[in-house]
Amino acid sequence: MQALVLERAERLALRDFTVAERLGPRDVRVAIHTVGICGSDVHYYRHGRIGPFVVREPMVLGHEAAGTVVEVGSEVTALKVNDRVTMEPGIPDPDSRAARLGLYNLDPAVRFWATPPVHGVLRPTVVHPAAFTFRIPERISFAEAAMVEPLAVGMHAAAKARIVPGDVAVVLGAGPIGMVTALAALAGGCSRIVIADVVAAKLELAAALGPVVPVLAGRESPGEVARTLTGGWGADIVFECSGAAAAAAAVVEPLRPGGSAVLVGMPGEPVAFDVVAAQVKEARVETVFRYARVYPRALALMESGAIDVRPLITDTFPFADSVAAFEFAAAMPERSVKAQITVAP
Ligand code: ZN
Repeated sequence: MQALVLERAERLALRDFTVAERLGPRDVRVAIHTVGICGSDVHYYRHGRIGPFVVREPMVLGHEAAGTVVEVGSEVTALKVNDRVTMEPGIPDPDSRAARLGLYNLDPAVRFWATPPVHGVLRPTVVHPAAFTFRIPERISFAEAAMVEPLAVGMHAAAKARIVPGDVAVVLGAGPIGMVTALAALAGGCSRIVIADVVAAKLELAAALGPVVPVLAGRESPGEVARTLTGGWGADIVFECSGAAAAAAAVVEPLRPGGSAVLVGMPGEPVAFDVVAAQVKEARVETVFRYARVYPRALALMESGAIDVRPLITDTFPFADSVAAFEFAAAMPERSVKAQITVAP
């Protein structure tokens, strides 16, 4: 079958490629419809590695996927052929200590699509555990369902923040993860989001998502804006979604006393974090790594209309143009947020 293969850094090919897969009794086989291009896919394409994960052999990219069930294992009861589904890309060992604690995203043995040596899903079909495959509500398109994966990160961050209705939150970074975190925080009860970025076009898109106050970083301070909105008190929550080391270092600055900071972005270098600045506010600092137990909730919010991800899907490419789609995503225009590839039109 044809697959989008990362041969090595900077070298992609849409070519014949076989992934050996066996349908187990608790698995489903899914015909892939739509796959979103993630920053991590682009990072592997450009650099051939993310931290300790190095692409040593040709690897299929893609982990934000939706499709249709075409075959079910003998013990699968919750899904049937022709169900439209979206899949969690991380498969933990269900017997691991982490999984039994409900922290399956932290299982050291988790196998995550398009993280070497595990193949991704920019290919016609994939075999996946039914337990990590979720039926899509009728009114949700494949394109929207492929957005559940990034949205799940924002939802997990919102849960870690322990939002109280009416909270004011600052989101640092208006990339795809900043945008989905803003959507999740609003759905979770925030009254207002102050979102900061260095790109004015991204802020314009973010400001259209709801009660979102855009802040051009470098020109204005998100902390100052949050204090103006709260009578000088400060933000209840700061979500760091830029991945910039300087932003992560200053994550406590916009907070009110007793506020919470959630570190979502992954800086490429160690961060000079001011412990005392956090202590004098008794700030609670949370971190997130992917997500766990979030997909059904994300789909429920999309079905109810509380979250609409459609404004974030800005660019769509046919499977035949996958290489061009990655070149596009690697040089993402300022007005684009999420590019997706339609594998099976
Ligand atoms: Zn992703």
